Amino acid sequence: QGSLACVGLGMTLGAHLGPRARSCIEQADVVFVAASDPLVELWVQGMNRDVRSLQGFYADGKSRHRSYREMVDAIMCEVRSGRDVCGAFYGHPGVFAMVPHMAIASAREDGYQAFMEAAVSAEDCLYADLAIDPGSVGCQHYEASQFMFYRRRIEPSAYLMLWQIGVAGDRTFSVATTGTGYRQVLLEILAEDYPMEHEVIAYEAATLPISRPRKEHMALSGLITARLNPETTLVIPPARRPERNNEVIRRIEEIEQAML
Ligand code: SAM
Repeated sequence: QGSLACVGLGMTLGAHLGPRARSCIEQADVVFVAASDPLVELWVQGMNRDVRSLQGFYADGKSRHRSYREMVDAIMCEVRSGRDVCGAFYGHPGVFAMVPHMAIASAREDGYQAFMEAAVSAEDCLYADLAIDPGSVGCQHYEASQFMFYRRRIEPSAYLMLWQIGVAGDRTFSVATTGTGYRQVLLEILAEDYPMEHEVIAYEAATLPISRPRKEHMALSGLITARLNPETTLVIPPARRPERNNEVIRRIEEIEQAML
């Protein structure tokens, strides 16, 4: 009949794979894998006889959007030929990840069973490695380029996480990193809410159990020359305390008084 399951491998090899995701990988007729590290891909290859890498769809200078469409086509071709297909993606398959969402939507549109299994994302590792609780003062997450291209209302009393910071400002979807000119524009946007000496963190979760996470603290101005990799997430801690809303507190006090 054909079906699709998109599962996550988590961030660190051997540490995060859930039992249901593992069993999807083991029992599928064919597994498509997009991993963060060739060793992770090898690990997945050991779980099923037919594991196909999605890495080959990427190429220098080729638009990532084209690569994504081709990946979805490859996945859907197997689903349509009646096979039970598993897409195994590093991290959480639904977090800042277009292919799993597109493939599931496409499979459902064609009447096939399709589901996504939640998993451990870079965000989850970040909270653990940097000892941040997103509930303490709140937390905003944006894709860095989208953050630049659209006017967003930042709340500098909350955390701000910028994903894909290494390609911030790229409109071609085909480069591996963007340069200083792009970063300067990003800095100018951030300067509206943060002082240039505000400390930010370039974060990279460990993808292998033997490696350590990267937690590089720097001044915001240091972003211009910082090493920003495809796997870097930028963490901007709060720059000020949240402002009390005295009007709301006064109204709540009135309600409390009326209840006495
Ligand atoms: N699905 C992934 C997840 O669940 O974390 C995210 C994939 S998204 C296409 C790629 C972005 O995720 C990177 O640019 C970076 O912001 C973040 N990312 C990926 N690997 C990371 C790592 N090892 N440490 C920190 N952030 C990472």
